[in-house]
Amino acid sequence: MTVPSPPDAEIDDVQRGALLAKLEGSSAEERLAWAVDRFGSTLLFTSSFGPGSGALLHLFSVVARGLPVHFIDTGFLFEETIAYRDELAARLGLSVIVLAPETPRETFLSRHGLKIYAQNPDFCCAHNKVAPLERALPGKRGWVSGLRRDQSSTRADTAIIERTADGPLKIHPIADWSSRDVYRYQEKHQIPEHPLWAKGYVSVGCAPCTRPVVADESDERAGRWAGSAKTECGIHTFLAKK
Ligand code: SF4
Repeated sequence: MTVPSPPDAEIDDVQRGALLAKLEGSSAEERLAWAVDRFGSTLLFTSSFGPGSGALLHLFSVVARGLPVHFIDTGFLFEETIAYRDELAARLGLSVIVLAPETPRETFLSRHGLKIYAQNPDFCCAHNKVAPLERALPGKRGWVSGLRRDQSSTRADTAIIERTADGPLKIHPIADWSSRDVYRYQEKHQIPEHPLWAKGYVSVGCAPCTRPVVADESDERAGRWAGSAKTECGIHTFLAKK
């Protein structure tokens, strides 16, 4: 199915409603193809290369060959994530652009405290995750990421497309996929899983702020900032919805 695209850059409320209805009834591949066709080189695609990231990365490698994948390296990631990124990039033929903080980890810690990520995680995320992404946004009209509604209660309302106040149109091609859909897809396409997944890490972010999910936790992101009220690093919440 081909999803028609409004000719102008702005998508108003009426167009958005019609487009949303069409995209909701489309496959993830069709949604991604629509985004690539509409935004071309002004499309930003981000991946955390975490557990479950392989499915959308594989789709992207099929649909958007030639466009880069952006990866935020906060300086606090697990070495397994870096190794997994390199493995998947080689296997899928992906070109990866690394977005890094302006202040390297050691300087950041010496300036703000060795436990700043525990004392003020919002500040730490703002500097090491959100700011690197913000610097990549100018000129981008579309932004694809792998948010899914079943990842957590705070993501349950994720739409296939979301307008932002002054930023790019956000596109979530697998918003309606379940974790089972993701792992079935990865199995079908023989995509290896993140090495920490087998150790109970269902969602993986920075090492100091991630622990495995335990048996009675149904929320896939329960191991992120566990014991605190924080549920998001900020990259998916700092742009105001329109
Ligand atoms: S997830 Fe933790 S270590 Fe990573 S940027 Fe946020 S607070 Fe810092």
